[in-house]
Amino acid sequence: MTGNKEQAALPQPAAQQVGYAVIGLGKLTLEELLPAFAVGRASRLAAVVSGNLTEAREAALAYGLSADDAYSYDDFEKLGERDDVHAVYIVLPNSLHREYTERAAKIGKHVLCEKPLATSVEDAEAMVKACKDAGVLLMTAYRCQYTPHHWAAREAVQSGRLGQVKLLHSVNVQIEPNEGQWRLKRKLAGGGSLPDVGLYCVNTVRFLLGEEPCEVSGTVHSTPGDERFTEVEESVTWQMRFPSGVVAQCACSYGAATARTIDVFGTGGRLAIDPAFDYQNLRLTVQTGQEVTEVRVPPEDQFRLETDHFSRCIQEGRAPYTPGEEGLQDQKIMEAIYRSAREGGRPVTLERFEGRDVFRGPAPERS
Ligand code: NDP
Repeated sequence: MTGNKEQAALPQPAAQQVGYAVIGLGKLTLEELLPAFAVGRASRLAAVVSGNLTEAREAALAYGLSADDAYSYDDFEKLGERDDVHAVYIVLPNSLHREYTERAAKIGKHVLCEKPLATSVEDAEAMVKACKDAGVLLMTAYRCQYTPHHWAAREAVQSGRLGQVKLLHSVNVQIEPNEGQWRLKRKLAGGGSLPDVGLYCVNTVRFLLGEEPCEVSGTVHSTPGDERFTEVEESVTWQMRFPSGVVAQCACSYGAATARTIDVFGTGGRLAIDPAFDYQNLRLTVQTGQEVTEVRVPPEDQFRLETDHFSRCIQEGRAPYTPGEEGLQDQKIMEAIYRSAREGGRPVTLERFEGRDVFRGPAPERS
């Protein structure tokens, strides 16, 4: 019965919910985030910020706000006068994440920032510092660390159900069209498939193990003559070694038909999540001996879970599970992978961390 009760949990009264200004009305915002706010339990949409005010007003009205709740980027600081806007959700091209995090911190707003946190370690560090100095929370929007499937997989890995884990394998590939997209421009994206889709492999492997890699090596490849890849890379393959001896082998690409998978291999069994990074219909199977079980968990809106978690952290004054430091660590790992690739694939040593979940806050609630 508990499960049903959780499913039926009521939203908080609107006046108690955390109000968000969503910055950037692109594909993710329009297709996923605004609908997720509509079913938020601790979160509600309070304002939208866009380069296109006409579209922003339309979006505001469509989601129950008034036309006055739509702002231009130039008017961003006016959000500081809004007591009902507690946080911003930054959903802009990657290289703009730092600027808007710093501007939000300056006007005293908490920051939920899309992945990758930034386009360099330096920017990510500056974002963490800006929020700390301003006394506001910063969370990296890693939805896969809030989904029931990924938590069930993490429990299978960490409970010993698979025996001693030895190897992981993760792939995230898709075909990126050549449509003048910011994703193919280095200045806006910071890199190619690695920070966009490969990051899911880096981050989810770390989440499942709870450990930090101590060494990485990688190679980068772009098809010669393919004009999509004059500024950013097409494909990256890399390896991450962990202090426990676990090895993860990963690959990402902008040049292959969609596949998003994670496989974990242990002395007593294996698990697979396939698809592993989609918004819906994730599928987790665990095999021990001859027995193959599909782990069924109730479907949840991943963006609602993630946003409601941040809202509860704001309401209760606690650190988010995936704070800025968690995004910063991935930035360091990605820079090390690129460095290895530039240096002929030689292994690059990373700072060693003892203990588990060293960059994460307290575990999130599950509803
Ligand atoms: P889109 O290109 O669809 O949208 C980005 C929006 O940013 C634009 O629509 C525009 O909104 C605004 N913008 C401001 N300046 C620029 C500029 N110079 N060039 C282009 N757009 C600009 O991107 P996505 O929505 O797919 O991605 C946004 C962010 O979300 C990225 O950081 C991405 O990595 C992340 N993301 C995360 C996902 C997840 O599952 N967590 C999935 C997809 C993306 P406007 O017209 O309102 O100004």
